[in-house]
Amino acid sequence: TVSRFLSTGQPSIGRFTGKPDPATGKFTVPFIEGDGVGPEISESVKKIFSAAKVPIEWVPCDVGPIFVNGQTTIPEPAVELINKHLIALKGPLATPIGKGHRSLNLTLRKTFNLFANVRPARSIPNYKSTYENVDLVLIRENTEGEYSGIEHVITPGVIQSIKLITREATERVVRYAFEYTQAIGRPRLLVIHKSTIQRMADGLFVKVAEELASEYPDIKLETEIIDKSILNVVSKPELYSDAVSVCPNLYGDILSDLNSGLSAGSLGLTPSANIGDKVSIFEAVHGSAPDIAGQNKANPTALLLSSVMMLKHMGLDEHANKIENAVLTTIASGSENRTADLSGTASTSSFTEEVIQRL
Ligand code: NAD
Repeated sequence: TVSRFLSTGQPSIGRFTGKPDPATGKFTVPFIEGDGVGPEISESVKKIFSAAKVPIEWVPCDVGPIFVNGQTTIPEPAVELINKHLIALKGPLATPIGKGHRSLNLTLRKTFNLFANVRPARSIPNYKSTYENVDLVLIRENTEGEYSGIEHVITPGVIQSIKLITREATERVVRYAFEYTQAIGRPRLLVIHKSTIQRMADGLFVKVAEELASEYPDIKLETEIIDKSILNVVSKPELYSDAVSVCPNLYGDILSDLNSGLSAGSLGLTPSANIGDKVSIFEAVHGSAPDIAGQNKANPTALLLSSVMMLKHMGLDEHANKIENAVLTTIASGSENRTADLSGTASTSSFTEEVIQRL
């Protein structure tokens, strides 16, 4: 089997508590198909789930945006739907640069308090990228840091942008990271920071992790300056194969794309989970890929592997493993079954059909 992509381990916080409909035996999951390549890759997920007989009923979910008092907001019916079912699968949502609405991705994270962003990046078996045997798991704080949205013009030409770090949000994400590390059986948790410069903000992040470490005696807590992490990860990614990393928001955003590039050489392969106390939303790391939208070229793997993470979160491991194996063996089978981002010749729909054949 090549099914080693994600662990089935389930941390006790952020655990899915939804139940299937007793009449149908199926779970209802809101599906935000998203923009650009979103509908194409969503179609692939729906076809594969149907062929794999996954007990899920999808319900379309339109997240807007709408504007309330000038603020980007998710429409109330979408908020109610996601709160009711405690879970959602999400395609990419485009954000206008510099003007127009604020990022809907950020708005979703804030609305549902999705505090931990889990991003595994692993080499795909039998697919040669720059590196082989990359096996990285990064957990990014997802609600504050540089993404708190607090910016001011102090005087023309001078902007102040606030990085917010709170004990509460840090404790929540670091505790999740400890539990995740324990659940997937890795011995080390690595806190990535820049407390040499951001002495108070990153200093607090590290301090909270050190305080929590006594509650997890089986896990060795280590800290590393972000500069050193970046150098290590591009020269010896295998150094991190026995660890989980956790870090403040912006470092996590940048480092996780680096990890994706190292493991696969394409954003089209990397999945992610946004975990909250109550609701969790699963999505590909990539964006709406407007350059290839509508051309049947997009690689649906990242959204498919995000849906695999979602199934594992819901306790549907058997279906998760079946789909994950089919996706990975399809990619491993040769360039005729890989999409263009992996130097292959397959279209989104022919790749999807190949995966279905391998279920
Ligand atoms: P992008 O991830 O959309 O694209 C970057 C490059 O990767 C492009 O060349 C694209 O063709 C390629 N790519 C991405 N996904 C692919 C796939 N599944 N298969 C094959 N190739 C793929 O990044 P961008 O162009 O910077 O952003 C486009 C839009 O997406 C922006 O509006 C941005 O705000 C948004 N975005 C959304 C999310 C999200 O919804 N979580 C994340 C990142 C960017």
